[in-house]
Amino acid sequence: MITTDEKVSLKHETQKNISLYINGEFTSAVSGKTFKNMNPFTNEQINEVAEGQSDDIDKAVAAAREAFDNGPWKTMKLKERMAYIYRIADLIDEEIEKIAFLEALDTGLPISQTRNMVSRASENFRFYARMVENRLVGEAYQVDDEFINYTIHSPVGVAGLITPWNAPFMLETWKVAPALATGNTVVLKPAELSPLSANLLAEVIHKANLPRGVFNVVHGYGETAGDALVRHPDVQLISFTGETKTGSTIIKNSADTLKSCSMELGGKSPIIVFEDADFDRALDACVWGIYSFNGERCTANSRLFLQEGIKEKFIEALKIRVAAIKIGDPLDAETEVGPLIDKGHYNKVKGYLEIAKGEGAEVLTGDIPAEFVRGNFVAPTLILNAENSMRVAQEEIFGPVLTVMTFKDEDEVIKLANDIDYGLAGYVWTNDIKRGHRVAHKIEAGMLWVNAQNVRDLRTPFGGSKSSGIGREGGHYGFDFYTELKVIHVSIEEHRIQQFGKK
Ligand code: NAD
Repeated sequence: MITTDEKVSLKHETQKNISLYINGEFTSAVSGKTFKNMNPFTNEQINEVAEGQSDDIDKAVAAAREAFDNGPWKTMKLKERMAYIYRIADLIDEEIEKIAFLEALDTGLPISQTRNMVSRASENFRFYARMVENRLVGEAYQVDDEFINYTIHSPVGVAGLITPWNAPFMLETWKVAPALATGNTVVLKPAELSPLSANLLAEVIHKANLPRGVFNVVHGYGETAGDALVRHPDVQLISFTGETKTGSTIIKNSADTLKSCSMELGGKSPIIVFEDADFDRALDACVWGIYSFNGERCTANSRLFLQEGIKEKFIEALKIRVAAIKIGDPLDAETEVGPLIDKGHYNKVKGYLEIAKGEGAEVLTGDIPAEFVRGNFVAPTLILNAENSMRVAQEEIFGPVLTVMTFKDEDEVIKLANDIDYGLAGYVWTNDIKRGHRVAHKIEAGMLWVNAQNVRDLRTPFGGSKSSGIGREGGHYGFDFYTELKVIHVSIEEHRIQQFGKK
């Protein structure tokens, strides 16, 4: 656990300005421009960040291209490359407290939660090292006695990785780990609202002494730096996590250079609680699932469907729990909900509370203590008497706001749950085992949990259907995205070959 003195020195350290990391060096942007990085708890400036634009993306891609084409990264022995990956994981573990602290400072996420995210980050590297060691195998096809065909996996090239601010370090490593372990080189464009931990990742990777150009970070805005990465002809793939609208823009803009794209997008996931569910556990999971990570969570269970028989009891219990959630300084270990990432997002979330009232729903929200008014705080909120057609039931609010609805029976709730554009996750609570499976099968989403909160084994596929994404990350699905599959056909007999033009 970090001491008060260490906190002071870390705060001091964050006042250093943040550079880009290109070709193994920390550097300013070509234009010399910077942008301000703000603290969501105080709305004071933390530091200045180098503002990368298309010139910087060109430099980073050129470095990554050179490292891919002529460097040792993709050709070195697997054991040697994996030693780098394990080393990155160890170095992250050594820095857990520091990274968790800076992540909480930069994003407003409570430190008790950023700690878990960071330990997950080092596991991402170990997991993908093991995955590559065990899964870098091909298939062989015997074709009569004439051919042996076999497959091999090769790295794809330069991977462009674009990440959001809501769980920055974890999500960056979730992409960087498989991309590097499989032998690609990387240009990472982190979210402009949360640059601190991406910079730490560059420091960690620098310390791990990866060959120059293998890993590069270009900070900057999406419409400039992000867009230049998406359009760059020397970038082979884009792995993107962020809003659905941005994902759609990226697919359009990457079309001319025909990139493969993995899209992890927004969500508005249902949690369905049947009358026979384990009431207390469903309540715990529901409250955690929407109010953890300040509600800025893609898989948040933001739409609650309660079966009519338990509606009153559940809502009463929810009101008590939600009113007691501890909001506060994200650096305080006791804090359960911190401030939202920035004023723009705060206004958006607050705007939805007005929309809810305008639509005729009841909004139950708490007051923010005077000592916290400088921060972007929205108190944990319940929207009651809502209907599925309302905007607050259909659109991603991405804050600590739960929209509550009711249903009569299984058929009705399946229709309601599926009557939405998104399809990322879903949660079903019932003690009828057949019904649990049945409903999970029928909900249109990429990931379902039955009688469980969002616990994930890294081997399982992660991603959404409908407007929530294209493709899957995690497990061997990530591995498949970052490798090119090639089949080699070898003749072992004298098979017939046509003899055009032979007299
Ligand atoms: P965002 O789409 O605004 O930004 C994400 C990243 O894209 C940022 O780095 C941004 O700079 C960049 N970007 C923006 N416009 C771009 C463009 N035209 N070209 C290239 N890059 C561009 O998303 P956000 O507000 O940072 O993150 C919140 C969203 O992310 C929510 O919708 C949330 O559900 C989603 N999310 C999804 C998952 C998932 O796995 N499905 C996980 C976390 C967050």
